[in-house]
Amino acid sequence: MEKNSHLVVSSPNIKYTDDYILSDYVYEETLVTQKVNEIVAKPYKKSISIQTERKVGKVGIMLIGWGGNNGSTFTAAVLANRHQLSWNTKNGVQDCNWFGSITQASTVRLGIDEKGNDVYVPMSQLLPMVHPDDLVIDGWDISPLNLAESMVRAKVIDFDLQQKLKKEMATMKPRPAVYDPDFIAANQADRATNLIRGTKQEQYLQIRADIKSFKDKNKLDKVFVLWTANTERFCDIRAGVHDTSENLEKALRNNEPEISPSTIFALAAIDEGCCYINGSPQNTIVPGVLERAESRGVFVAGDDFKSGQTKLKSVLVDFLVSAGLKPVSIVSYNHLGNNDGKNLSAPQQFRSKEITKSNVVDDMVESNQILYKPGEKPDHVVVIKYVPYVGDSKRAMDEYTSEILLHGTNTIVVHNTCEDSLLAVPLILDLLVLAELFTRVRYRSDQHGDWQSMHAVLSVLSYLLKAPLVPASAPIVNALFKQRAAIENIMRACLSLPPTHYMQLEHKIP
Ligand code: NAD
Repeated sequence: MEKNSHLVVSSPNIKYTDDYILSDYVYEETLVTQKVNEIVAKPYKKSISIQTERKVGKVGIMLIGWGGNNGSTFTAAVLANRHQLSWNTKNGVQDCNWFGSITQASTVRLGIDEKGNDVYVPMSQLLPMVHPDDLVIDGWDISPLNLAESMVRAKVIDFDLQQKLKKEMATMKPRPAVYDPDFIAANQADRATNLIRGTKQEQYLQIRADIKSFKDKNKLDKVFVLWTANTERFCDIRAGVHDTSENLEKALRNNEPEISPSTIFALAAIDEGCCYINGSPQNTIVPGVLERAESRGVFVAGDDFKSGQTKLKSVLVDFLVSAGLKPVSIVSYNHLGNNDGKNLSAPQQFRSKEITKSNVVDDMVESNQILYKPGEKPDHVVVIKYVPYVGDSKRAMDEYTSEILLHGTNTIVVHNTCEDSLLAVPLILDLLVLAELFTRVRYRSDQHGDWQSMHAVLSVLSYLLKAPLVPASAPIVNALFKQRAAIENIMRACLSLPPTHYMQLEHKIP
């Protein structure tokens, strides 16, 4: 199929109007009940109507930590692609791309052709999505450097491309941000000079004013706020402070010390009607923030980008467990030399990362009661060390030991050298593009009922996040291919297409 050809679904269950794609979808599941000597599996169907608004509108993104490695590299990537820049390296002339982004650089299987061969289309062609070239970018940072200076400091972008981007990026300057030395490592203090002063309530009001002025000035329809600033320590969730939306509001007015900068940003974003995404491990989205998002009908998503080592882990452990092999020990060692690594060299900030990295195999382990007794888990250790020389080029070394047939042992060792920000930036783009898409998707189970938004906790973004936030009592899925299938199949539901399966019965029972 041509890259830019227009996709039309031909089905009695879909209707295209000028404003909407309307899908009548039948969701099928199997209800399983366990009796004493019997497991009963009963298929059921549920009819849902789904409408996707076709007009994307003008979209803005505000990055918290805009001047960091991810923030400056994201900006450079958007501009390089928008201007279709090419640049010289010792390997010759290079062109820009969005490799690593599922929305921009991956395809999905749409169906089969007349001969029974699979037909793939770019994921971005399935439904109307914001184009990266059209994004308007702004943000905050505690460091005062402009984006050109931040890009040089980050040492991620090739020198020649930096030269081509510098002039435009020098005009971009992060807004002052909320700094609380109690929440990030003490080693960050020397860059923290671009600050919103005042009480927590005043800081919150300033962030709201920043969002509003960005939106008005650029005549934006929607603004998304995404945290890609330093990892904070976990806040100590306290009754009367973080537990309800009302208590949080009161605590903010009382200048309660245990409210983190990221929680202040989240509250301000939600109160301006903006989706808030947490790309770092800390527990920003405390119960009061969640309640606020639900009551305001605004999406939140988190936590922590799933870029390198954890992404691989959520593939490898899924493969081992589903192959009937039993991972018994997973040891992950990292070293990195960027500012993220420097911040994580402090124990409390490392602890936040350790937590998000530690639970990523739980769902896979719990899925196989032949291999694991209830409550049994593999030994799982995560080590992170700061080694300045390697900069943004993070090393991850993992050892997976599994028990195989008759208590034999299988050890897999993986060495992964990855340019950290070049892996994280496409995730930032996908989080934004997909979150924006789902703001335009509504559903109703009753033909005459009101259209409703998806749940405020946007768990469909789990693929991109290390410790996915899910609605209360919903299961957490970490296995990567399940997470990806959820994205694809929900988009297919919006088009009244059945979920993708891989049976290929055309070739098996011709
Ligand atoms: P970085 O240190 O280069 O950038 C963080 C930026 O945040 C800095 O410019 C800093 O000045 C700024 N900052 C700190 N506190 C702030 C605040 N309260 N308000 C506004 N700005 C603030 O780090 P990075 O490599 O860009 O990573 C950013 C975050 O993403 C880290 O928390 C990291 O753990 C997380 N993350 C990164 C990856 C990846 O790069 N592959 C993967 C997963 C998670």
